[in-house]
Amino acid sequence: AQRLFDPLRQFAEKFTMIQAGFTAVERIDELMSEPVEIRDREGLELKSLNNNRSDVSLKIQTGEIRFEQVSFAYKNDEYVLQDLNFTVRPGEKVALVGPTGAGKSSIIRLLCRLYEPTKGRILVDGIDIRDLPQGELRRHIGTILQESFLFAGDVKRNITLGENYPFEEIERSAKLTNIDKFIESLPQGYDTQLRERGTNLSGGQKQLLAFARVAIRDPKILVLDEATANLDVATEAEIQEALERLLEGRTAIVIAHRLSTIRNVDRILVLKRGKLVETGSHEELLAENGLYAGLYRLQMLGN
Ligand code: ADP
Repeated sequence: AQRLFDPLRQFAEKFTMIQAGFTAVERIDELMSEPVEIRDREGLELKSLNNNRSDVSLKIQTGEIRFEQVSFAYKNDEYVLQDLNFTVRPGEKVALVGPTGAGKSSIIRLLCRLYEPTKGRILVDGIDIRDLPQGELRRHIGTILQESFLFAGDVKRNITLGENYPFEEIERSAKLTNIDKFIESLPQGYDTQLRERGTNLSGGQKQLLAFARVAIRDPKILVLDEATANLDVATEAEIQEALERLLEGRTAIVIAHRLSTIRNVDRILVLKRGKLVETGSHEELLAENGLYAGLYRLQMLGN
């Protein structure tokens, strides 16, 4: 609840709805007021929004992400990202770390192409994302938020977001993310109605349901706004396990708030005022004794 108005959360909530396709969701008015107007190039067909699932996965196969000389300003020359160069290899897990306002969320927004770089380019699987249909790009980026949200409707719909999936796939994604038993225990199982603010589910159950929603789309890339705050230990362990399974075989970028939970990522990118100032593993960065080591020590003292 402490991050209720987090801009990334708001963005990701809308983004999930965009992913599902405009016609499949409610609150379209809200979506249409997105400040972003990115258009596909001529000739790029938005096949993947046709609810025809055999059309997807055309170009994105591995989920490699590359930022090349990326600079970005929301307005005029006020650059919030400068000369970013980095590659996240297929399957690699990377954390973005840095003080508030350093540019972590902006990186994610660019990756999802909610905005476009002012300079430089972003490649996924070696393809400039401006050359990919937005439907395909967005389908391959799953977002996991610190605080997950539900739509009014039944459990099934909360997983499929109204898209057409065979029931076996719905079950499979629920199982992968440890929420199958709980769903089966509900009075009407997968047809049980949920309330929009999710008051009939615990925080952990909402989180697992959000995982299932991502799992069913089988995206190559996951973006995580560090989860598992305010949960009891048992739930946290369960969520960690589900998350690990969800992460398997996917490229992931984690926006880390509590540094204690990111030791297991492959690599940490440290940002300061829009610039990449350090990269390395947790141990390497501690040994370097720079910004990361300082932030880490500060948080350890605070805990
Ligand atoms: P972080 O996620 O690391 O906290 P952000 O990417 O949210 O950082 O913000 C980077 C900078 O961009 C900050 O100075 C922030 O004020 C600014 N910023 C973020 N969103 C917008 C926006 N929609 N319009 C203008 N400036 C923005």
